[in-house]
Amino acid sequence: MPEGDTILRARNRLAEALLGQTIAVAAPSPRGRSTGVERLDGMVLDRIETHGKNLMLFFGDRVLHSHLGMSGSWQIYQHGARWRRARSSAWAVLGTEQHEAVEFGGPTLRVLPVTRLGLDPQLSRLGPDILGPGFDADAVVSTLRRADQQRTLGETVLDQRLVAGIGNIFKCEACFATRLSPWRTAAQVTDEELRAVLIAARGQMLDAVLRGRPAFAVYNHRGPCTRCGGQVSSRGQGDANRTTWWCEHCQS
Ligand SMILES: [Zn+2]
Repeated sequence: MPEGDTILRARNRLAEALLGQTIAVAAPSPRGRSTGVERLDGMVLDRIETHGKNLMLFFGDRVLHSHLGMSGSWQIYQHGARWRRARSSAWAVLGTEQHEAVEFGGPTLRVLPVTRLGLDPQLSRLGPDILGPGFDADAVVSTLRRADQQRTLGETVLDQRLVAGIGNIFKCEACFATRLSPWRTAAQVTDEELRAVLIAARGQMLDAVLRGRPAFAVYNHRGPCTRCGGQVSSRGQGDANRTTWWCEHCQS
């Protein structure tokens, strides 16, 4: 499932293949055509930015904004290579002489004027990017304290308005690394513990950007805990009922 690390890796691969070049844009699927992405055809890709799970490709005064949700993907191919999915299902194809970058699915693919970015409801309410170069964990802890303190730790770190980029996988993994139960309420977690969860998530996600995702310690884990041999449990959490994995013995 795409989280901030997936998006930053996609950004780096897209930049390598496309940046600074004139892009031929096609939208094979009707859903893709409805985004107006073909209006970018023949423009130069100036820069690519990420914020949490959002990817923004800048073409002059326009931005192509993508959010992959649970199921979308960006795939990059050498020109002429066989794709892993049918061409007719691609929402957007960004082509150069050597490469084709293809976007499939997700909740968001749209073209915006650059001038609208700062006012956009989906983008302007995001909290600081967990993978941003100047990430300030203390500032995020202060913001978290102004949010609902009766929500669980697991739900709190998934709230993209507080901190952007952490998804369900790294929520589970960061709570496990810091031995904190994702079921504590925010009020039951000290500032130091909150800070530790954020720093753990950032470290794990930056590693995943550099080296790819590791074998997870607790996420989607079956069998005894990899650390203490205790019972790993899983249960839906929060309004979105995202499945949370945690060890009842060594996380409290
Ligand atoms: Zn354990």
